[in-house]
Amino acid sequence: MTASEFEIIRRWFTPAGPGRADVIAGVGDDAALLAVPAGHELVVCMDTLVAGIHFPDDTPAAAIGHKALAVNLSDLAAMGAEPAWATLSVTLPESDTAWLEHFSRGFFQLAERYRVQLVGGDMSRGPLAVTVQAHGFVPAGRAVRRRGARPGDLVCVTGTLGDAGLALQLALPGDTPLRLRLDYPEPRIAAGMALRDHATAMIDVSDGLLADLGHLLETDGLGAALHVDELPRSSGFLAALETAGPGCTTLDPELPLGAGDDYEVCFCLPEDSLANAEAARAALSCPMTVVGVVEAQPGIRCYREDGSRYLPSACGYQHFTDTDGPD
Ligand code: ADP
Ligand code: MG
Repeated sequence: MTASEFEIIRRWFTPAGPGRADVIAGVGDDAALLAVPAGHELVVCMDTLVAGIHFPDDTPAAAIGHKALAVNLSDLAAMGAEPAWATLSVTLPESDTAWLEHFSRGFFQLAERYRVQLVGGDMSRGPLAVTVQAHGFVPAGRAVRRRGARPGDLVCVTGTLGDAGLALQLALPGDTPLRLRLDYPEPRIAAGMALRDHATAMIDVSDGLLADLGHLLETDGLGAALHVDELPRSSGFLAALETAGPGCTTLDPELPLGAGDDYEVCFCLPEDSLANAEAARAALSCPMTVVGVVEAQPGIRCYREDGSRYLPSACGYQHFTDTDGPD
């Protein structure tokens, strides 16, 4: 390790304060030494953000720090896990102190809100990319998986869909509410934990509802009917569409169905629905909307308010295909 790497880790990546009791050794040893609480399972995930692919080149450093952690916390949320620790690998073209200052602030502000302790990482020189691994706990046997949905289950989503996609599509500037949604996604941690008592299956919406619900249903060979006019859209989304003019009306419901980066969770509630939906709604700290129903026949079929079929053109972002774009 060169002196400058050492300095960077000491100044920007060593957490302040006493830290969590379950961290026996964190940043500064050869590896982190961590204690998983008795009766719990460890939930681990990792996501990489590459400049120009996972975030636009003009994204502020603080947003990159926030988002690198947020997308991982979103995966923990989708398992019903409580976040605990993170490791962080940063690849930087040069050691730019202003960039590091803002990046580190964005990362730690989110980490502190969810009591996540940074316990280690790595630094290298190269094109800008950030990888975070996040760790959380669930009481043994209580994680909510992608598999587990049953025909008749209600398909639900938290919050609103399409905001981040519209910010990207319209190249909105950094201080607009939709662009803030793209740059500073809020992981649905409290909702994910509350849904341990209600959901049969769950996934976070990172690649778009159609793609991610498709992954969830695929695991059990199931399908769903989706009511596209019921998809929750924010007032900011509707206002931005109106401002953008008639050429943009086709983005609705395309973006709520197909755009990624909103980091809401999509989940299934068991049949006997209304009572279950009300119980889940009361347990959640955020809005939820019923958008469809699980069916035995594989595939997702979309319907408009008047009952007619709707054929979406979007199917979510995938790497390594010619036609689409990030994970
Ligand atoms: P080694 O050469 O033994 O792999 P490193 O020099 O890579 O050790 O790292 C020294 C310590 O600093 C380790 O505890 C490592 O986890 C931590 N570390 C390195 N980079 C980061 C980072 N970006 N964020 C947090 N901790 C880091
Ligand atoms: Mg190392």
